[in-house]
Amino acid sequence: MTSRLLQLHAKSDLIDRPTLCRWMRVVIDHCRRGVAQGQNPFAAAVYAADGKQLSLEFNEVRRTGRPSHHAEVMAIDKACLAIGGFELRDGDWLVTSGEPCPMCAATAASVGIRHIAFGAAKETIEIAGYGQLGSGCEKIFPFFGREANIIGGIEEDDCAKLLVENPAPRSPSPKRSERG
Ligand SMILES: [Zn+2]
Repeated sequence: MTSRLLQLHAKSDLIDRPTLCRWMRVVIDHCRRGVAQGQNPFAAAVYAADGKQLSLEFNEVRRTGRPSHHAEVMAIDKACLAIGGFELRDGDWLVTSGEPCPMCAATAASVGIRHIAFGAAKETIEIAGYGQLGSGCEKIFPFFGREANIIGGIEEDDCAKLLVENPAPRSPSPKRSERG
C-alpha cells in the first residue's frame, strides 16, 4: 500500500530513507511494548538531525484515561524536557507509527517541528476504529505559518499490521442515563 503523502512528499532534504526506516523500526518495537501493556498501537519518537533520539513514547490514553496522551504529544513533551525548551531545531524529526491527528500535528508545529515521517496512513487508522482524522495532517501547518515536510509509508506494512491486529475496542453507545 502506498500512502498519498509518500507520493506528494517523496523526498527528504536532510535525512535519507534508510535512516528514517531505521528510526521507524525503533518506534515499531516500542509500539509493540505498548501493545503488550494493553495500550493502543501507536508509538512515536523525536530524533535530532544528527541521529540523537530525544524521546520515545507510546500512546497511553488507555492507561491514563487522558485523551491527549497520544504517542506524538507525549514524545514532543519529552523532547522539550530533554532540550529544556519549547522550540525544537529545524532539522528535528517526529517519527510516528501512524499519520498524526490534527492535535498531534498542531503540537508538532507549535514547537517548530516540520519534518514528520509516519508509517500507517490515516485511512488504516480509521479502518482500525481509532477515529476520523479529517483531511490530513499537512493541512495543519499553514495555520502556524510553517511549511511541512511529511513523508508517509515508512515501514508501512508493519505499522498497519499493528493497527489491524489491535483494533479499537468497540463499546456500545451508552444510554443517556449512563453518561452523566
Ligand atoms: Zn494524535
